[in-house]
Amino acid sequence: LAKGNGKGGWQRYQSDLHTAMMQRLEMRTALYEAIEQEQFVLQFQPIVELIDQKITGVEALVRWQHPSRGLLGPYHFVEAAEESGAIVGIGDWVLREALRQFTQWKTENPDTTLRYVSVNVSVRQFRSADFGDQVRSALAASGARPEWLLLEITESLVLKDADKVLADLKALRAMGVRIAIDDFGTGYSSLSYLRQMPVDVLKLDKSFIDDILHSRQQHALVDAIVTLSHNLDLAVVAEGIEEAGQRAALDAMGCRYGQGYHFAKPLWPGDVPAMTEQYEPYPAEQQEQPQRQV
Ligand code: C2E
Ligand code: MG
Ligand code: MG
Ligand code: MG
Repeated sequence: LAKGNGKGGWQRYQSDLHTAMMQRLEMRTALYEAIEQEQFVLQFQPIVELIDQKITGVEALVRWQHPSRGLLGPYHFVEAAEESGAIVGIGDWVLREALRQFTQWKTENPDTTLRYVSVNVSVRQFRSADFGDQVRSALAASGARPEWLLLEITESLVLKDADKVLADLKALRAMGVRIAIDDFGTGYSSLSYLRQMPVDVLKLDKSFIDDILHSRQQHALVDAIVTLSHNLDLAVVAEGIEEAGQRAALDAMGCRYGQGYHFAKPLWPGDVPAMTEQYEPYPAEQQEQPQRQV
């Protein structure tokens, strides 16, 4: 490194390292302050039935209302939060707030089509000693029913310490909470391996959906995953649907659920009830849907 740059290159390298360290330290401090000062906010993105676009669930997505930089998406801070450990506190807040808000919607409108709120759980948060207690306590504080909560975990979590993760997932499932694998297809797990895990839902990553209309291979792959998932008794949510054609193709494959800008972007909480209620069920007889329900 810095070969041929002489002393100056090395010094610059050292000072860059120092700057990076300082930035990490500042970020860490800022994240912990943000938790204390409640600078995090949630948006909710609808998850719909592909057949009629009825909204059946919402995914809670965290944002940071930064005092000077404005509204920041997770891309700007989730990795740093994971590295510094702040994600455990942020995740706890997200879980509580998502359940509080969702319970309020269910209470205000008991006939709502909303059945669940989906909450992202980071690896570090899941592995923290008291994650189970976090969930139990958030459910109790909000009065939410456990079936209303879908926890989104990633493949990477399942691939390490499988026995411990398996036991923890079983304990969550025993509470009545359900589990989804987020971004499926971006990691290294296989469906047959996943099936040994107590998992209810597979969220197929956007990168799989992007090309289904233009690549026969990609179409065939998604088709096969959907069929296999259903045979394994997993529900499937296709992520990142941006076009009507993708919706139609996935529906034709038998994929039952979807999420993406084609239906709705992440919404501010105040906009969720109106968006949900604008749905009108088709009067015609519904098509039979034998697959597993989320
Ligand atoms: P994710 O869990 O896979 O969430 C879906 C992301 O895709 C969201 O980005 C959403 O806004 C975006 N998205 C949805 N539909 C479309 C579409 O049609 N086109 C495109 N281009 N994007 C779409 P967002 O909100 O920026 O979140 C990014 C990631 O940050 C999430 O990916 C999740 O991994 C993480 N994240 C979000 N909230 C939390 C949280 O509370 N805790 C943790 N640990 N991670 C979170
Ligand atoms: Mg997610
Ligand atoms: Mg996802
Ligand atoms: Mg994704």
